[in-house]
Amino acid sequence: MQRPQQGVLCAGCPHRGAYLAAKNATRGMRGRVICGDVGCPAVGYLYPAAAACPGGMERLLDRYKQEIPTEPTAPACVRFIRDTALGSADTAELFSADALACEGQSVVLAVLASSAACTTREAIEALGEQLLAGGIKTVAIVDPLDLERAETVLRELVGQGGVSAVIFASPCNLLIKEPLEPAEVDRYTCVGCHRCAQITGCPALSLAPPAYRIDPDLCAGCDLCVTTCRTQVIYTPRLRMTPEQRNALRYEATRASS
Ligand code: SF4
Ligand code: SF4
Repeated sequence: MQRPQQGVLCAGCPHRGAYLAAKNATRGMRGRVICGDVGCPAVGYLYPAAAACPGGMERLLDRYKQEIPTEPTAPACVRFIRDTALGSADTAELFSADALACEGQSVVLAVLASSAACTTREAIEALGEQLLAGGIKTVAIVDPLDLERAETVLRELVGQGGVSAVIFASPCNLLIKEPLEPAEVDRYTCVGCHRCAQITGCPALSLAPPAYRIDPDLCAGCDLCVTTCRTQVIYTPRLRMTPEQRNALRYEATRASS
């Protein structure tokens, strides 16, 4: 049997933060399901997502088919879709509150708003309006690269039960015209614990014994790894910026003249 394709998300991909937030916010919940068929070959890379690539879902689902326990915690489902999947009337119905309600006691529709059609605040808010019109009562907009807030919001949505939605708003790295300055590991103080690479899986990070290094040509300056380093030896040129300013910087970089 062919093994399902398992890819690696691009360096700086904002989807990485969204999956990490879903994984962390539902950690320890029996019966949790993180799924979606977004079309990106790396979707679902992080355990326990049930989709790896278009078609991969069929092969993987058997592993995750099990009776959903009602005790001790309510089952939760985080369902990932791309912003472009909401485009037509058919798909809008597919992702309405009524259609999603059967997927679990707590269902969060996670919309990855990173396409070229979603690089303005208006377009992102229009997505939110569309979800509200579909009967979803709570819709939150978060920056997936602001991991702390993304996790908090997702935890709240999962905890409240019923159907809700979160829009992960950050542009695809391939849309960024003006490259952001790379982060850098202080190789003299890095203890080589692997935490940054294990958590983010970013291909720009590699072990060059005894310490980690960041490939400056690959690093897209998303700063996700910076927050994972407990010894705080990954330095970013955006240290003094707030998460909102970093998010705005990414959008500005999509509009920069090439
Ligand atoms: S900042 Fe870190 S996680 Fe982001 S692209 Fe660079 S090495 Fe990867
Ligand atoms: S998490 Fe920090 S200390 Fe650990 S390997 Fe990465 S850069 Fe080094």
